[in-house]
Amino acid sequence: MGNTPLLPLRRVTSGLPRQIQVFAKAEWFNPGGSVKDRPALNIIRTAIANGDLISGKRLLDSTSGNMGISYATFGAAMGIPVTLCLPANASPERITILRVLGAEVILTDPSEGSDGAIRVARQMAAEKPDTYWYANQYNNDANWQAHYLTTGPEILAQTNGQVTHFVAGLGTSGTLMGTGRYLREQLPNVKIIAAQPDAPFHGLEGLKHMPSAIQPGIFDPAFADETVEVQTEAAHEMVRRLAREEGLFVGISSGAAMVAAMQVASRIKEGVIVTLFPDAGYKYLSDKALWEGK
Ligand code: PMP
Repeated sequence: MGNTPLLPLRRVTSGLPRQIQVFAKAEWFNPGGSVKDRPALNIIRTAIANGDLISGKRLLDSTSGNMGISYATFGAAMGIPVTLCLPANASPERITILRVLGAEVILTDPSEGSDGAIRVARQMAAEKPDTYWYANQYNNDANWQAHYLTTGPEILAQTNGQVTHFVAGLGTSGTLMGTGRYLREQLPNVKIIAAQPDAPFHGLEGLKHMPSAIQPGIFDPAFADETVEVQTEAAHEMVRRLAREEGLFVGISSGAAMVAAMQVASRIKEGVIVTLFPDAGYKYLSDKALWEGK
């Protein structure tokens, strides 16, 4: 888990001045297939060490999909039963993967999105505290700390301390907060840039439009130097470009992160921009808007 490759993006960035380099952490190399393996494993290990997740209890959380796949992956390997609440409109591939891994899946009202899944999980945890241990990824410090302990140090080492900008999409905000905190401690001049959807209703699965969403407890709105808003269609277009120009078949939030990274690149004269590609594209094949006709 972790120690993912840092890939140079050379073709999508070919119009940029040579003094600007753009790299992406290829998080689909993790065993569960996404960046969320990092917080999931840290959350589980911390809860076991603290005596919160004891034998016989089920791990319960809400998730847009990837965190669930990570919990289910490690839960299967560690003998921990897992129950997940997710919106019924999460991609069918994700729901099927969770079931294959043996997780119990509770589908919540799609019109309420990931906030609806949070509300159902909270209620289940409150009603049956002896059955469930509520992992609560949005408010669990072990989420962002996973990135402080792994993603941040990896990026510092892989760029030989040369990183000048770190760009990450906002879901729980764990990636941005943990990686950002570590990098800022090591390199006080580094710029931390958040990417979020440009509207409350969007197609950037895994990301949140913070102004209209339930704010995660681990999120500090004043932390990032800047927030870039990304349109769903621009992220789709970038996913197709990354596939066709770089041979990187990534997920939609990776496209969004790259759009934001390119926007940052267009405004600077030199620098080493690092972004993070949370997962690969295989789970989004049923998202017709992404592929059809283009
Ligand atoms: N992209 C995808 C595909 C995700 O599943 C997530 C997690 N919700 C993110 C981005 C955002 O990561 P974080 O929760 O660390 O902000």
